[in-house]
Amino acid sequence: MTGLTAADGNVVTFHYTLRDDDGDIIDSSAGGEPLDYLHGQGGIVPGLEKEIAGKGVGDKFNVKVEPKDGYGEVAGPGPRAVPRDAFPDDMEIEEGMQFFVPTKSGDPVPVWVMGFQGKDVLIDTNHPLAGETLHFEVEIVSVRAATKEEIAHGHPHGPDGHGHHHH
Ligand code: ZN
Repeated sequence: MTGLTAADGNVVTFHYTLRDDDGDIIDSSAGGEPLDYLHGQGGIVPGLEKEIAGKGVGDKFNVKVEPKDGYGEVAGPGPRAVPRDAFPDDMEIEEGMQFFVPTKSGDPVPVWVMGFQGKDVLIDTNHPLAGETLHFEVEIVSVRAATKEEIAHGHPHGPDGHGHHHH
């Protein structure tokens, strides 16, 4: 399929390099696997998805994403220390890791591991990149129509039909 552009119901694959305001590289797919997402499903930050919309294979461009269209503004009381003992012994805990904490209202909230302090794990409800202006360098690698199954799941399954998702 050629000629498709990024739009709802299409799987878009792209290479990217993400820099912060200082020009330091935060993350990059260069030299590795490109990233794929199902357009219109919130699989990538809104500010980036908006700019990718309408682009096709081979398009290269830069996107600046403000915090509100990225990982949000920094909110809340800040990192909280939780004893390492509160986590299962066999659970590997790494900085930047995301997990979900159950709440009384029933909706689990996402939290991220911000670091470590003695025997404690520092967790925060802010994404590690909250408050950051994101500077993306993007190159579209492929655009294809999503399968019915992918649309039902809300995410792409990858070229081999398995993908990297847990079901
Ligand atoms: Zn799936």
